[in-house]
Amino acid sequence: PSLEYEKTRRRVRMGVEEMWFFISSQIRNLQKKMQNNSPQALSQLTKILDEGIEHKRSLLRDVDRLSEEDGFNSWRLKEAVALSDLVQRRLTYLQNPSDCENAKKLVCKLNKGCGFGCQLHHAVYCLMVAYGTQRTMILQSKGWRYNKAGWEMVFRPVSQTCTQVTGPVQSWPGNDHSPNIMLGIIDSVSPRPPYLPLAVPKDLADRISKLHGDPAVWWVGQFLKYLMRPQQSTTLMLRDAAVKFKYQRPIVGVHIRRTDKVGTEAAFHPVDEYMTHVEEYFRQISLTQKVEKKRIYLASDDVKVFKEIQTKYPEYEVVGDPEIAKSAAVSTRYSDGSLSGIVMDIYFLAQSDYLVCTFSSQVCRVAYEMMQSLHPDYASRFRSLDDIYYYGGQALHKRVAVMSHKASSPDQMDLEVGDIVGVAGNHWDGYSKGRNLRTNRIALYPSFKVDDFIDAVEFPPYSEVPL
Ligand code: GDP
Repeated sequence: PSLEYEKTRRRVRMGVEEMWFFISSQIRNLQKKMQNNSPQALSQLTKILDEGIEHKRSLLRDVDRLSEEDGFNSWRLKEAVALSDLVQRRLTYLQNPSDCENAKKLVCKLNKGCGFGCQLHHAVYCLMVAYGTQRTMILQSKGWRYNKAGWEMVFRPVSQTCTQVTGPVQSWPGNDHSPNIMLGIIDSVSPRPPYLPLAVPKDLADRISKLHGDPAVWWVGQFLKYLMRPQQSTTLMLRDAAVKFKYQRPIVGVHIRRTDKVGTEAAFHPVDEYMTHVEEYFRQISLTQKVEKKRIYLASDDVKVFKEIQTKYPEYEVVGDPEIAKSAAVSTRYSDGSLSGIVMDIYFLAQSDYLVCTFSSQVCRVAYEMMQSLHPDYASRFRSLDDIYYYGGQALHKRVAVMSHKASSPDQMDLEVGDIVGVAGNHWDGYSKGRNLRTNRIALYPSFKVDDFIDAVEFPPYSEVPL
């Protein structure tokens, strides 16, 4: 297929979703305003919502069918394998230099004072900068708060051959001749390397953009894929758990983040809000397949949600382990016992067909990123109750206007075709918020009038690794 064809196919899908966000939210607003009007008018609005959503489901089914019938699916599967294989071979090459003694190194410590998802993101960022500067990443993880013995207790070592630093270690940025450079955390790295998310490498940008609906996420997913290669004991643990859970698809991954996050970094969302989206996913797929059993994989740091969902949604099979949620609660979060739990939750969430969660949580963002390494393009397989996808410490997330817009209320901005907007969030009601870099105005704009801006950055070519 051509790049334009793939982009257009995805734009149609996105447009259908955005149109329904817009219309349904406008009608709900109208219903609120009309509380005192005639019951007939109100019930007419409810009817529009009930029938309108059927139009939306039908359109989504058809656009998905298009991608099955256009004859390009075998290409998509093959390209996904080839592209991932190329990136993994480059990382393997980088991490296993033939002359370790003289190889230049980038040193990172796995001691960022934060949770598991946040620490994984720290490791990903470090490996990305290592790839960008062509330095072998040395991951120092002894004394790690999740397992004192280190990273290798759970994941395969980031290098088979090159794990020690010899000689002086300079701090970032050092210079081209520094044998070893220590990289701090992304939040305060200075100067900022150009390789930080949401950048993608220029030499692969077109291939990634054709393959995947969110190239930056696909790229992050490849680094996670490399880093999170499980040790045998981890593989066995996951296999045993899958058997115990009778893990089967279709399944929706639901992550409910509570405890310390609520009221500090995120708002509280009731269980029903998550389940509405799960319900909608199953209604959608029921148009094309028989769903014998509605199933969710439930992960949380609040054990109460297990009971609540089982009581309120008895027709669901709830997969997952409430004991994990208990040990994940914030008081015991950093003990060894909680490590296998969070590893398991992330792997199973990533394996699901669809994710319902809050992207304000790094746990869910990691699962979403990893999910992308398991399929050619699962970019649209999520529903976040709050943020759009982001990478902590990322450069400005740019979108480019493809249609002009005249503000129709004081909280909106004007758009001219070609305007770059730094997006802050999607309100999931047809509008997104951002800053128009031309006018410097922070305001709302219709989400469908922009495209993602692909930040293609020059990375080393790795020409030693065959294409
Ligand atoms: P964030 O705080 O949600 O953005 O994500 P972090 O990963 O940085 O920190 C949250 C930590 O809380 C996780 O790493 C886990 O240790 C724990 N946690 C949160 N949600 C879950 C969950 O669903 N399952 C498990 N096992 N642990 C969780």
